[in-house]
Amino acid sequence: MALRIGWGTDIHCLADGEGIRLGGLTIPCPRASVAVSDGDVLLHALVDALLGALGLGDIGDHYPESRVAPGEDSSRFVRETMALCAARGGVVVNVDCIINLERPRLGEWKGKIRDNLAAILELDSGCVNVKAKTAEGLGAIGAGEAVAAQVAVMLLLADG
Ligand code: MG
Repeated sequence: MALRIGWGTDIHCLADGEGIRLGGLTIPCPRASVAVSDGDVLLHALVDALLGALGLGDIGDHYPESRVAPGEDSSRFVRETMALCAARGGVVVNVDCIINLERPRLGEWKGKIRDNLAAILELDSGCVNVKAKTAEGLGAIGAGEAVAAQVAVMLLLADG
């Protein structure tokens, strides 16, 4: 058995739209992530963190745009990556996430996003933490032109 740490980040442009996808939920607002998939930066960063802990490259290796349906729910990428983890006898110890978004403010959404992330991962909500930060008006995120996420994950691998 071995503990393995993984780290993932993602950023997408925002444009006029019908809500921003975060952790498998749609945050209602007049903006949306620009992407082939549903543009869920949190799930994309999570997949990269899981792949990192597994030593299996990055999300672009596994899900090139040619293999992603327009608007596709990114939770498929998480579920399939968790299956790779399970095939190695792995379990997720904990997941810690940061979302960078200027608006809307996510205070009332953090708990819901955490619970939905835990459901996608089939984990207890106590193993998942979600933090939300603005950029104090600085840069592309501060201007409301982008949304980003960072995720750290710890795995316990049977064959690590
Ligand atoms: Mg992405």
